Amino acid sequence: MLNIVIFGAPGCGKGTQSELIVGKYHLYHISTGSVLRTEMEKQTELGKSAKEQIEKGHLVSDDLMIKMLADILESNTNEKGFIFDGFPRTIAQGEALDRLLRSKNESITAVLNLDVEEEILIKRLLKRGEAQSRCDDTPETISKRLEVYKAQTEPLIAYYKKQGKLFTIKGDKLVEDVSENIRETLDRLIYQSK
Ligand code: AMP
Repeated sequence: MLNIVIFGAPGCGKGTQSELIVGKYHLYHISTGSVLRTEMEKQTELGKSAKEQIEKGHLVSDDLMIKMLADILESNTNEKGFIFDGFPRTIAQGEALDRLLRSKNESITAVLNLDVEEEILIKRLLKRGEAQSRCDDTPETISKRLEVYKAQTEPLIAYYKKQGKLFTIKGDKLVEDVSENIRETLDRLIYQSK
């Protein structure tokens, strides 16, 4: 089973790149940000409590997120593999994901770290804000999200490096070129595991 984490700062292309590889590798795409946006639209309790944090550029609490991820895994037991997009975002979430997978005799196969310079991230997020009117792609929220990424999410790079699972891919190239690099990395991993 392939269990891939697609990792990186806001605007690095996690969602776009996930969509481009799910078909080839038969992965079920779990985007915690999209799940939260759907909950906000439906105005569920989870959606309402997440909205406040998302609009400020803060993270939703680890407790809520870990419970949400556990529920998603529980209701998709027949999948052949997963791509985790936007989760984990803290060390506590990373540890929880390891525990959840271990309880199913599974583990993370690889973490694809999409590396993009901050200046490009900001440009992309502002453009997306105009095109999709996402409540958190505003100039103030963008800088808060980048700050939160550095403080709370970036430490996961060392966490996965230590486990020998980190693969860094330049994410500032053309979408197709980044996708090609991702496919090469995954194909190599699959070949080596045979
Ligand atoms: P994304 O679409 O992945 O950029 O997520 C949008 C927003 O949802 C983030 O800025 C967070 O406020 C929230 N969010 C998504 N995933 C998580 C997570 N794993 N932990 C905490 N907050 C999250």
